[in-house]
Amino acid sequence: MNIISTIKEMKYFCSDKTDIGFVPTMGNLHNGHLSLIEQSNKRDKYTVVSVFVNPSQFGPGEDYDKYPRTFDEDIKKLKSLKVDSVFFPDNKTMYNDHKIYVIDNGNLSGKLCGKYRPGHFKGVLTIVLKFFNIIKPGRAYFGRKDYQQFVLIKKMVKDFNLDIEIVPCRIIRDSDGLALSSRNTYLTGQERQNALSINRALTEAKKMYKNNELIAEKIIKEVEELLKDLKIQYIELIDPDTLENKVKVDRKTVMAVAAFAGKTRLIDNTVLGEDIL
Ligand code: AMP
Repeated sequence: MNIISTIKEMKYFCSDKTDIGFVPTMGNLHNGHLSLIEQSNKRDKYTVVSVFVNPSQFGPGEDYDKYPRTFDEDIKKLKSLKVDSVFFPDNKTMYNDHKIYVIDNGNLSGKLCGKYRPGHFKGVLTIVLKFFNIIKPGRAYFGRKDYQQFVLIKKMVKDFNLDIEIVPCRIIRDSDGLALSSRNTYLTGQERQNALSINRALTEAKKMYKNNELIAEKIIKEVEELLKDLKIQYIELIDPDTLENKVKVDRKTVMAVAAFAGKTRLIDNTVLGEDIL
């Protein structure tokens, strides 16, 4: 496995290859990340993974400094999955004299997480477009856990006419139902217990839908009640493509939640009419 830190070398490595599957990550790899890599391994000839804690997607006062960085352990996991190449650039490599950023018109990035994390998706889209241009993958894999991110990247690829298939991957959860996240390491025992209510609430929302409750307001009210031990940032029932709020839900409606357990911000979501969470 190749560990590359410069753009020149990364471009060179990719230049004679087609069928590259790309998995962008911020490291501190868990089974959620690994499931994306496994899909790329299955479908693509080569798998390239980036490990980069992208400063431009963190706002002031967010956890950029304390974000867990566990490169040595990450490398062991990536080696065992037989990843072809790891791109591990530093900030200067990615942002030296950088002046142009990618933004949408606000219709997608202004909703959900974007309301509370201004500039976050500008940072995400910019770094992902840079990676796409350096690696030129045929496919790129993104977790549905960051649902808004997936929708924005899919739209960027369409609007910028990139020949990259964006593959959404299901959310991987711990055995207790908590969606895996690098930020789960911040949780105390009690906070983690409280955080399990997110999974319970999403399950309840699906159950209500299955029992023919179609009124968004009623489902949200129930979920709000179940999340009372957390500080809720938003609970929304949205159209899966436009992210617009639904008044009456259907099987494709996504329930998206962001809530704080102590100081840790957690996000999760589910599709109301799908069997898996
Ligand atoms: P991150 O390192 O948090 O930026 O995540 C890198 C990629 O892994 C993103 O596409 C995430 O959506 C995805 N991811 C993170 N957690 C999970 C999870 N629990 N299940 C599936 N994908 C995930």
